[in-house]
Amino acid sequence: MSDVKVNTVLGPISSDELGVTLMHEHIVYGYPGWEGDQTIAPFDREAVVSLALELMDQLKTLGVKTFVDATTNDGGRCPELLREVSEKSGVNIICSTGYYYEEEGMSAYWKFRSNLGDVSGEVYELFSKEITAGIRDTGVKAGVIKVGTGKGVITDYERMMLEAAARVQKDTGVPIITHTQEGTMGPEQAALLVSAGADPKRVQIGHMSDNTDIRYQLETLRHGVYVAFDRMGIQVILGCPTDEERYGVLIGLIEKGYGDRIMISHDYIAHWLGRPLNLPEEALPLIANWHPTHLFNNVIPALKEGGVTEEQINTILKDNPRRLFGGE
Ligand SMILES: [Zn+2]
Repeated sequence: MSDVKVNTVLGPISSDELGVTLMHEHIVYGYPGWEGDQTIAPFDREAVVSLALELMDQLKTLGVKTFVDATTNDGGRCPELLREVSEKSGVNIICSTGYYYEEEGMSAYWKFRSNLGDVSGEVYELFSKEITAGIRDTGVKAGVIKVGTGKGVITDYERMMLEAAARVQKDTGVPIITHTQEGTMGPEQAALLVSAGADPKRVQIGHMSDNTDIRYQLETLRHGVYVAFDRMGIQVILGCPTDEERYGVLIGLIEKGYGDRIMISHDYIAHWLGRPLNLPEEALPLIANWHPTHLFNNVIPALKEGGVTEEQINTILKDNPRRLFGGE
């Protein structure tokens, strides 16, 4: 137990109070550009709050105490909405600061500015201020830093974001959670973040559930970071494997003694900003379980069937998030 203060949207709590934690989910998310389509698809805040409250009710019943919202500054992040949902539901919500990977993020602003000079100090200033003073004038302080990289590459823009994140991590203690594209560049992200000053114990390499090569997982874990199987329920589409394949890798890693370095989540998006998705009929069965209750209803039973113990499940759901935030 380390009793480090963690920024939730309602203020600081002790890392010991986090309880069962979903480490990578979204209440709202919008690809940059959704804002321009609001004439057709306006944001109905009230409807989103009630949708989110329904979700939180389901999660509370399953014992979830904390929900990390991984929506970045460029993904339609909504701190006031998160605060309202947390206030009304009693679930701790942790809001992010940070930027998505270059190709699908809102990189134009920083790339334009970087033509005129190094912007890493400006990004450092932004992330730090959102953690220490709050996001805009909302009073909500960010509790994690989210950054990402593309498929098989770390671009100059992404490197700049990762290095700024590492420096802010070092100075504030707030953990870093990442996006990897299809589970690539895990070891490279870990190496870059650590060499830029981040504490590996406070780094979660994300979407490693999209990579079924156990050697690649071990290569990432070698840096002392956490790997997140945080796209459970998203199968086949978006370059994802099936959950069945993921269970094999998870059980393999736990058998090798890495149960204390794994997180499980869904990268669920309760509400897409902009127009609703038109998913092809064939895709629907593949994502039928893409929901934060999947972990409790299907993933845990499957892991137990594979020999994972209750104690190991507890480590993944409770101890690992506490240790990530606490830097234990
Ligand atoms: Zn995500």
